[in-house]
Parts: sequence; C-alpha cells; structure tokens
Amino acid sequence: MSPQASKPNSLLIRDMHPLVAMDGADSQLCGGLIFCEDGEIKRVGKRPPRGLRAQRIIDGRFAVAIPGLINTHHHLFQTLTRACRDAADSELFDWLRTLYPRWARLDEETVHVGALAGMAELLLSGCTTTSDHHYVFPRGQSRLIDAEIEAARRLGIRFHPTRGSMDVGQSRGGLPPDSVVQDLDEILADSERLVSRYHDPRPGSMLQIALAPCSPFTVSQRLMRATAELAEKLQVRLHTHLAETRDEEAYCLRRHRKRPLEFLEDAGWLGGATWIAHGIHFNRREIGRLGRAGVGVAHCPTSNMRLASGIAPALALAKAGCPVGLGVDGSASNDSSHMLAEARQALLLNRLAHGASALGVQQALRMATVEGARCLGRSDLGSLEPGKRADIALFDLRDVGYSGAGDALSALLLCAPTRVHTLVVEGRVVVESGRLQTVPLEAILTRHNHLVSKVTLRRPLL
Ligand SMILES: [Zn+2]
Repeated sequence: MSPQASKPNSLLIRDMHPLVAMDGADSQLCGGLIFCEDGEIKRVGKRPPRGLRAQRIIDGRFAVAIPGLINTHHHLFQTLTRACRDAADSELFDWLRTLYPRWARLDEETVHVGALAGMAELLLSGCTTTSDHHYVFPRGQSRLIDAEIEAARRLGIRFHPTRGSMDVGQSRGGLPPDSVVQDLDEILADSERLVSRYHDPRPGSMLQIALAPCSPFTVSQRLMRATAELAEKLQVRLHTHLAETRDEEAYCLRRHRKRPLEFLEDAGWLGGATWIAHGIHFNRREIGRLGRAGVGVAHCPTSNMRLASGIAPALALAKAGCPVGLGVDGSASNDSSHMLAEARQALLLNRLAHGASALGVQQALRMATVEGARCLGRSDLGSLEPGKRADIALFDLRDVGYSGAGDALSALLLCAPTRVHTLVVEGRVVVESGRLQTVPLEAILTRHNHLVSKVTLRRPLL
C-alpha cells in the first residue's frame, strides 16, 4: 500500500482537548489523537505518523475524549414501567410487589422495544458497553433475551446480557408471583442454549452471556449451585443481586438461616468470575472475604438512593481488592439510563458518606470505565491505549453546561451530565452530533410509549 492510500476500516480522531486515556499513568493529552483500524486502537499520541491516511477523520478540537462508559447492571425491560405512580415512593420489596404483575405482561416485542429505548439512552450518555439482567419470563415467553440481543445488534452497542432466573414464587415463600418463575431444568436448558448460540469469548467480542439467578428472595440454593456449575462448565461469568436491603438480609436469616454472603458462598459463587449488584449491607469481615475472592461489584448509587436501600461501602470494597464498577440499575428504580449521570452520583454519594477527598473525579471515571471492564472480565476495554478496542466517547465542551469550566475532566463529573456528541463503538461511529446513526430514534420512542399501555394497562404520557 502506498503511504498516501487511506487504510480501510480506519478512523482518526484528532486535536482532542484533552484526551483522557484512563491508562495506568492517568495521562491527559491536549491536542491528542487516536488512530483506530478494524475496531482496535492502533495509536494514541500527539502527532500522526507521516503519510498516515484514515478512511474517516473527526476533528475533536471542541471535545474532551474519554473511554466509552461501561454499565455493569441494568434491567432494560423496566423502561416500560419508568416513573410508575404506584411505585414512585416505595422501598424495594413493595416496589417489586407493585411492579411484578405489570412485568408479567412482557412479551418479545415489549422487551425488544424496551431494550431499544434503554440502550439508545445509554449510547447517548456515552456508554459503549452495557450489561443487562433479564429475570422475568412469563409463561410461554422463552425468547426474551434473544429479543434484547437483536436490539443491541440494531443499535451497535457492545452487549453483556445475563440470563436471569427465578424459581421460588409466592407459593413457596418467595416474593414474585408464580406466573413469572420457571423450574430449574427449564432455566438451565435455556442458559445453555443462549451461551452456545450467542456467547463470543474472543477479544473484541460484541456479545458475551453470563448466568444470573435474580436474588436470594427469588431463587433456591439448588438453582444457585447448579448455575455456578453450569457457568464453570461453559466458561461464562456469574451475576446476581446481593446485600441490597435489610429486608433481604432478614429474609435470608429467616428462610436460609444464613446471611446473604453465606448464601452466595455456600452455592460456590465466591470467585473472580462473579460480579454482584449493589453490595450494600456487608460487615467488615465480609468485605475482606469478597476482596480476597476478587468478586466484582456493580455500585448503583442512584437506585440505592431512590429506593432508600442504603449506601454501599464501594470504596472499602475497592480497597479490599474488589473490582467496583457502576450500574445504572433500572430503569424503574433509577429511573434513567444515563451513565455519565451515574458516575456523578457515585462521586457525590461517596463524598457525602466519606468526605470530599474520598473519591476524586479521575477515580469516579475509573469506576465507570476501567473497573467496569474488570467486572465484566474485559481486559480489552476501559481505556484508550493501543491494543484496546476502539470504544470512545467525545463530549462537546461548547455545551452551555460546560461554559466557564477550567478543567475538562472535572467538568464531565461536576457539571450537569450532558448528551454525548460523538460515540465510537468498535471503531464505528454510532452517535454523531448528538444523534443516533443506527436506528430512527423518534419512531422507536413512539412505539415504546404505545407499548407502555400494554404492560401497565394505563394510558402513556404521550
Ligand atoms: Zn437490579
């Protein structure tokens, strides 16, 4: 190839102001550039090599560039029951009891469109990789995770769906109605089907499956143990809710005669392939055990404040050795899917709990990027360095909310969260000038609002 020819599938973003790499040295490059090819970052620096021609060039002189944000915990179907009046002012157990009957009406279309809306919101907030925890399977609805995988492919977001499950309904002392729980054999067979059909373990993967029994008050110890064995056999990760509320702790002590962490440990889950959501109500000894085992934690500050669940010991868990990423967790307990807003909430909540110097802006962004990647087992994501995947978010410093800011990185975390200007996933421009390039958003939102009435039996706002 002659030096003048542009390389196919290549992208050059130049003159960023600054580029925040989130590498080990916490580098910030003013006037920096990134060159990517075939979805991989090939070069990060000040000057392009002589003769380099990219197929596409983006001028980033108005922007701060950060690694694409990583969301480690979510329930996309809940976008259909956002800001539900009857559940607006409840704590977790009452909130769930109110919403389960609505979720019992989910089908493939509602889950697909709900996922499109939630993932679109994530992308527009700078998120390039999201996990999802789908655990509600009304009778006869066996393809709901397939429906959200199809949504992720249409949008171009990197996706880590987890095959959720519940096998203890009300008739056996659990919280959910029997109509949305499944039996163990059905859960395991579908988990195996999804992994063999969709899971791609290779670097650069756009889709990885994990297995995810819902929570100690909706699943049996038998299901937890069998799921851990299956995950080991299939070489996939494990995810669940744990230690979210005092009600959960009381339930575990009453029903299992164990604290939540013992429930997890006795099922063979305490290892580096597990990440849990919330992790609020742990004692010091338990934090040490989790850290030594390398269990990841999805810290979900907005949901925890919204449901008054408590303040997670996120900094102590990180100090003990746990990867601690962020989760928007929702979208009916947040009620948003805005990852930059979640990083700001983590910063504010942990400062309130531990003092203004407890969590710096760089550390908060680290939770939303590098540590999130660790939770999902992705060493190829989370920072802007050669060899990592080309997942890049550019925020426009000309936005009114950033006007007057003295430091770009501080502005991202301290000013009101904005919409991303340009978003690149696996080297592909998915958002440009604040608009999604892959799907017609307005048409999706019209359908989404229409489907709300099918799930809630109420008229939508629009
Ligand atoms: Zn959750």
